[in-house]
Amino acid sequence: MRKIAVLLSFALFALLPACQKQELYKDNRVMMGTYVEVTSPSKDAAGIVFAEFERIENLLSKYKPESEVSKLNALGRLKVSPETFYVIKKAKEFWQATEGAFDITVGPLVDIWGFTDKKYSLPAEAKIKDALRLVGSDKIILHDKDNVVEFMLSGMRIDLGAVAKGYALDCSVNKLKREGISSCLINAGGQVYCMGDKSGVPWKIAMQDPRGKDFSGYLELKDKSASTSGDYEQYFIQKDKRFSHILNPKTGYPADSGIISATVIAPSGLTADALSTAIFVLGKIKGMALAKRFPDVEAKIIEEK
Ligand code: FAD
Ligand code: MG
Repeated sequence: MRKIAVLLSFALFALLPACQKQELYKDNRVMMGTYVEVTSPSKDAAGIVFAEFERIENLLSKYKPESEVSKLNALGRLKVSPETFYVIKKAKEFWQATEGAFDITVGPLVDIWGFTDKKYSLPAEAKIKDALRLVGSDKIILHDKDNVVEFMLSGMRIDLGAVAKGYALDCSVNKLKREGISSCLINAGGQVYCMGDKSGVPWKIAMQDPRGKDFSGYLELKDKSASTSGDYEQYFIQKDKRFSHILNPKTGYPADSGIISATVIAPSGLTADALSTAIFVLGKIKGMALAKRFPDVEAKIIEEK
């Protein structure tokens, strides 16, 4: 469930001068289908973050029938809140920037591969072709004036699984700032935001080795988000081939770019989240080129050996 682990060992505390030691409050909750862990010197931080995640989940989760995204998916046209409109608009911009590698209209594909209900199976070729007809963010019409989102084809469904956690991180950080909190670490199942620092030193997080139990490296971050997309948590193996939940919107099959883990470090959670998914689809060369086009963005890629 967690791809980026948070290091808060006593050994690390010991590295700090005694005068800088600060008590940290830690709490976690299952939200958006993963653990959301909050660490901060402020005892109010976790409550603020959980409330923001809950608010965003109620807008953007396809697992909640009353969310705006579920209603849009059912109706094909809906006037949504400015926030939902913003996230869908940003997602469409990432679709454009990634030449279609990042595409929230993969909903029907995600469903037929069983990644929504976790009943994984290799779909028939005809089923993939049928679903592919409904894929393509060019078929999302955005009416800016009144926040109406409209699908060009009936049966289209959006899935914000690759971007909503990153957005929720950004919302949480903004809310924490408004509440006067300047230091907080949020880990939402592989999407991390390191707000401020930890008693004067950057937050230190560990990146999981995609094919082992150990860590593959460490990141020291301040006011940055890190997001990892990988093929080692949601996947199934059939005929010796690994099929993971990140799909190539062009082929309708799980991405097969040679990357097994893509971590993106960016000033915003939404950007890190979207780009890590896109890079996973694009592969190392195109993925690195993509990361370079964004200011202050860094990518760390691990390929299959
Ligand atoms: P990322 O790489 O960030 O995202 C991968 C996910 O994005 C895929 O699982 C798929 O949903 C989608 N996707 C696949 N290919 C592409 C592509 N090319 N472009 C764009 N998107 C793509 N899981 C549950 O089991 N139960 C829940 O109730 C539940 N609720 C959730 C609510 C919210 C608001 C969110 C954001 C997620 C929720 N999830 C839930 C988890 C979700 O189903 C995914 O498993 C998760 O978002 C994958 O995130 P990731 O960081 O591992 O991978
Ligand atoms: Mg993502």
